[in-house]
Amino acid sequence: MGLETHLPEGILLTTVERAVGWSRAGSLWPATFGLACCAIEMMATGGAHYDLSRFGMEVFRASPRQADLMIVAGRLSQKMAPVLRNIYDQMADPKWVISMGVCASSGGMFNNYALVQGVDHIVPVDMYVPGCPPRPEMLLDGIIKLHEKIRREQFVERPRKGESMADFRRRTGWADDDTISIETPALTQLQTKEQVVGS
Ligand code: SF4
Repeated sequence: MGLETHLPEGILLTTVERAVGWSRAGSLWPATFGLACCAIEMMATGGAHYDLSRFGMEVFRASPRQADLMIVAGRLSQKMAPVLRNIYDQMADPKWVISMGVCASSGGMFNNYALVQGVDHIVPVDMYVPGCPPRPEMLLDGIIKLHEKIRREQFVERPRKGESMADFRRRTGWADDDTISIETPALTQLQTKEQVVGS
């Protein structure tokens, strides 16, 4: 019961992006990083009963330089925020973040000055897992959905359906507004084929 039972014989065609996405999704290594009670559920997810190793990611790394997934498990204090950001910055690229539990996602019940009201103020979050605490099944569900997202990721960002190139460039930071306003008159000077033939 291996790959040969799922794959057809002969040639298999795909894109480089899909092949890389498939291999990245199957080899995520999380950083060993827990902040509060949610971390207990994260540890349970790595245990024998839930068996995170089924997804190729049982290796929680003690060094951020060997990890490409940060699971923010628990509430984040203002004092801890620079440390979390430091760990994120030291992780290998490309990297992803899961916000686990309501405290990490929004501050939860701790609506006060001591806690960051959502870890997405500090690092970009790819997947939010609700609950207090989320059970290991919920974290697994978030991880599987993140895998699907990684499999679909493209090397180069492309315009969304119906998005103009100017909006696309603004969104992706390809060019600032000044550059776009310089480009736009130049585009209006383009001649049609009929104009070229007639001149
Ligand atoms: S969401 Fe609940 S379990 Fe998780 S850190 Fe907050 S209080 Fe603890």
